[in-house]
Amino acid sequence: MTAESDSSGGFPAQHQQPPGLTGRMRPLPDHGEDSYVGHDRLTGVRALITGGDSGIGRAVAIAYAREGADVAIGYLDEEQEDAEETARLVEAAGATAVLVPGDLTEEGTCRAVVRDAVRGLGGLDVLVNNAGFQMARRGSIEDVTPEDLDRVLKTNLYALVWMTQASLEHLGYGASIINVSSIQAYQPSTSLLDYASTKAAINNMTVNLAAELGERGIRVNAVAPGPIWTPLQPATQPSQKLESFGADTPLGRAGQPAEVAHAFVYLASNHEAGYVSGTVLGVTGGKPVF
Ligand code: NAD
Ligand code: MG
Repeated sequence: MTAESDSSGGFPAQHQQPPGLTGRMRPLPDHGEDSYVGHDRLTGVRALITGGDSGIGRAVAIAYAREGADVAIGYLDEEQEDAEETARLVEAAGATAVLVPGDLTEEGTCRAVVRDAVRGLGGLDVLVNNAGFQMARRGSIEDVTPEDLDRVLKTNLYALVWMTQASLEHLGYGASIINVSSIQAYQPSTSLLDYASTKAAINNMTVNLAAELGERGIRVNAVAPGPIWTPLQPATQPSQKLESFGADTPLGRAGQPAEVAHAFVYLASNHEAGYVSGTVLGVTGGKPVF
């Protein structure tokens, strides 16, 4: 039985230090390596995916490359091995892979990452603001430290603004921005108070940016995943919690990164989603996104 058809939900208890590495996960996630079939839907597109080394970002990188796009991948230095594996998969699809490491909680790094991505790709058509951080905690708001708050808000919100600002001078008519929201924007867990609030803010910014950038022909959308099996989970959730991870969704299981990637392909495609902007597309296993 594959992970995708397993309806029992849950994974073996396990833990990693953040940001987490793919190779240490049991079972390994499915990024579409053996299943994603491209149909030339993104031929000639140049995409920058932050957090493209692993999880949802890796699945999007594979899908984009197989659809004909060239891909730049943002990631943290500690994730070099994951980034190289994603680059290998992108290149195996016949696409160009550009590695742009850097900690996006610094504004100057965001600018440098965009500059290096544009240099490597020869331009930019799609920005996927996918990098994100959370840390589950047992207690109340009184346990949220200034350091926690800085890391979560800077990774999820400040970096999104800085990456968007730095990218805009390169994004022309027909370009698009895809942000990554979460089911946490709609059904916040008390253990993820700060993280959930950033995802609600990302929804708000997505709608607002779509309104601002529409006249420049730039579409802005978001994908809101439900529980997805990625390194973020063993790195930031209590290990026992993984045993029932995803079991509370209507479909009764967690999703695989490969199952989320299609939404990003659709939203990036001007042919298919040319009139779609300001939308948050849920891929949640049945949890409501309204
Ligand atoms: P992941 O760990 O594979 O990806 C997150 C990536 O964010 C990391 O690979 C890392 O490269 C990047 N990142 C984190 N901090 C960074 C920093 N300071 N500078 C640069 N890059 C940084 O996990 P994922 O689950 O694929 O996460 C991707 C996105 O999906 C995140 O925005 C996350 O909030 C969102 N999301 C995940 C789930 C889920 O269940 N996995 C659910 C809803 C939303
Ligand atoms: Mg990673």
